[in-house]
Amino acid sequence: MSLTDRLLDLVFPRSCAACAEPCSGDAFCGACRADLEALPDGLGLFDYAGPVGDAVRAAKYDGRPEAMPAVAAEVARALPRALRDDPPQWVVAVPLHPRRRARRPLDAPGLLARAVGRSLGARVERRGVVRLRDTPPQAGLSALERVANVQGAFAAHPRVAGLDVLVVDDVVTTGATLQAVADALMRGGAARVRAIAAAGVAPRGPLLALGDEAALTRGAVAQLGE
Ligand SMILES: [Zn+2]
Repeated sequence: MSLTDRLLDLVFPRSCAACAEPCSGDAFCGACRADLEALPDGLGLFDYAGPVGDAVRAAKYDGRPEAMPAVAAEVARALPRALRDDPPQWVVAVPLHPRRRARRPLDAPGLLARAVGRSLGARVERRGVVRLRDTPPQAGLSALERVANVQGAFAAHPRVAGLDVLVVDDVVTTGATLQAVADALMRGGAARVRAIAAAGVAPRGPLLALGDEAALTRGAVAQLGE
């Protein structure tokens, strides 16, 4: 039994991953389950303002890490057809800095990447991308500050050359972090980079021109480089 399954067993009989109301037999209560609708487009598969976003916040900030496997299960189920028909060779998570991982034991992107990789039958490469320097959290920064904050923060494993890669994160707002990771992979010679996040925030104002700007707004799977 995997750790995720054990965590799911722990969370199922307890409480809804999103609203923490008691529920059984499902990770989300009936009301939240009814609101779980995959977004038609955008980098995020689900709305950050909905139950999946609630569960992500609960896991990361409210001391309920057991809510994240429920998110991972929904993400794995909601993966777009385009990915299933044309799966990547590597799935990589947006890496936390080792210091941050030590402070916050929940590696949400890593957990999501493992669920996505399992669902697609694709290899999850833990060292596909590394974080070269710690960066302040993106929350609270403007779109422009977010780009500057993460620029040059990542490096790709040399073995990525020629591969088709999917980058996975928990939350996407402006797409600056995903783009910085994609840039590192492309610099490392990746043949193609796509990206998804569990939850997306509708950006206030236009997305910045980060390479192929259209890629960030088009389709549930964004193509960030080819
Ligand atoms: Zn609920």
